[in-house]
This record gives sequence, C-alpha cells and structure tokens, in this order.
Amino acid sequence: MATPLPVVRSLAEARSARAALTGTVGLVMTMGALHEGHLSLVEQARQRADHVVVSIYVNPLQFGPGEDLDAYPRDLAADLAALEGHGVDLVLAPGDQDVYPREPLVRIDPGPVATVLEGASRPGHFAGVLQVVAKVLSVIRPDVAVFGQKDAQQLALVRTLVADLDLGVEIVGAPIRRDADGLALSSRNAYLSEVERRQALGLVTSLRAAERAADGGADAPAVLRAANETLAASDGVVADYVVLVDPDTFLDVPPDHRGDALAAIAARVGTTRLIDNLRITIDPTRKVTA
Ligand code: AMP
Repeated sequence: MATPLPVVRSLAEARSARAALTGTVGLVMTMGALHEGHLSLVEQARQRADHVVVSIYVNPLQFGPGEDLDAYPRDLAADLAALEGHGVDLVLAPGDQDVYPREPLVRIDPGPVATVLEGASRPGHFAGVLQVVAKVLSVIRPDVAVFGQKDAQQLALVRTLVADLDLGVEIVGAPIRRDADGLALSSRNAYLSEVERRQALGLVTSLRAAERAADGGADAPAVLRAANETLAASDGVVADYVVLVDPDTFLDVPPDHRGDALAAIAARVGTTRLIDNLRITIDPTRKVTA
C-alpha cells in the first residue's frame, strides 16, 4: 500500500517539514477542489524540483464582499485522493486562525497591474492574493513555484512580487488545461448546471473566434470585435469584460498593435463568474493562404 501523503495543518509544522526536505523544492499553491489543471502544475513542479509541496487554502483575504467565499468547495479528503500518486511530498492545509491569527497590519500594494480587469472587478483581490503568496513562499522557501496562465494577471503579479521583493524563487507559468470541448478547467465549473456548462463554452468559443480573426490577418480592433460579437451571440453568458491587452501591462493594445497580445474574458454564466484567456499574435501584414 502507498504511504499516505504527509499533511500539515499549520505554518509552524510546514516550516519544520520543509526543513527536513533535502534538495530542491517546487511549490504549487491552490485553493483545493483540485482538477487536472492543478495536477498539471504539480507535474511541472515535479519535473523542476526534487520535492513537491502543495498548499491547499481558501484565502479569505482575496474574496470580496458578496463573493463565493462561503460556498467555495472544500473537501480535503477528495483533494488528498486526487494528489495521490503524483509525487507530492508535503501538503500544507492550514486553517484561517493559523494563517491570520489577527488581521494583518502590513499589507502588500500590488501596483498598477492590479487596478485593471480582475483588479477592477474585484477590488482588493490581488492584494489578498499576494499577501498569502508572500506568506507561503516565506514558509516553504521553494526554489520554484508554478502558477497557471489561467489566472494570467495573478501570474504576472506574482512575478512582480518576487522581482520587487527579491524573493529568490523561480516562477513558472503553466498553460491552461481544458476539457475536451475546450472549457478551461476551474474549481468554479462545479457550480454550473448542465445547461450552464454548455453555455460556458461561449468564453472559449469567443477567444477562438478572436484567434481565427488574427490568423486571418485581422488588426487589433477587428480581432476584439470578433471576440465581442461571438460572446454577445452566446446564450446565457453575460460579459464582465472582453479585452485584447498587452500581456505585461494588461492595458488595451493600441489599434495599430503588432505582435503578442492577450485576449481575456470574464463573464457570468448564471451566478458563476468565469475567466479565460488566450495568447494571440496580431500581424495584419501576414499572408493568408487559403
Ligand atoms: P486556484 O485553486 O483556482 O487558486 O488555482 C491554483 C493554481 O492553479 C493557480 O496558479 C491557477 O492559475 C492554476 N489553475 C487553475 N485552473 C487551471 C487550469 N485550467 N489550467 C492550468 N492551471 C490552472
């Protein structure tokens, strides 16, 4: 029988368990409700480090009033079962009292990237994310930490946090894992009814319409129009934003933009808020062959 995954429930225990790991350490931070997307991050960490640590913590600081903090799926036993056989050496699953014995007084200001898109729709979200990321990085002191491109703005902000505070950890971005029909895997997909699950495909369909337009030589405004029109025609999907942005600043690309851009969407399907994105190359001078 396989030995059970070592699970620690406090940061203090995590510090000593980490100290006992010799060799390099890769970290994957999650909020649980684990799916193949999370497991692909674990796989990347395993390829890059001798040991893998996974944290499972629904961080209240990154949820705004009226968001789904209370409803967020929590099932540690199922998460541990999902991680079984994936080469994880340590799971950190702390409680709120342990992570925040009191309201933290010192806060992280995530800067300009956190003021747009997800940051504009969810005030305080990224400050909360970076607070817990800084904390877990300081406890685990990994050599490498893997974050998903699914949360592109979060990934960019974590890179900036690490650069600006010289945290000395390599940040790796992992590609978005999707279901066979294209829907980006997300813990929040669990909220969707069968009908909503089908409607949610509107997000990826719209991103792919933008990609097709770009592949056909469309300029930035036409690419964005393709995404918007496709999403507007998607039943049951209410857009929060549909944008074509610079992948570093997350600001809208200018109409004459050439090169890489990030098409990003946030939308509500029923009461569930979903996000998705796709890297697109804009090059209206390209030759389109039939
Ligand atoms: P979460 O549990 O939603 O906080 O996500 C934990 C990590 O998994 C974050 O770095 C996410 O970007 C990443 N992640 C979530 N969904 C996916 C996905 N479909 N593909 C790749 N990474 C993902």
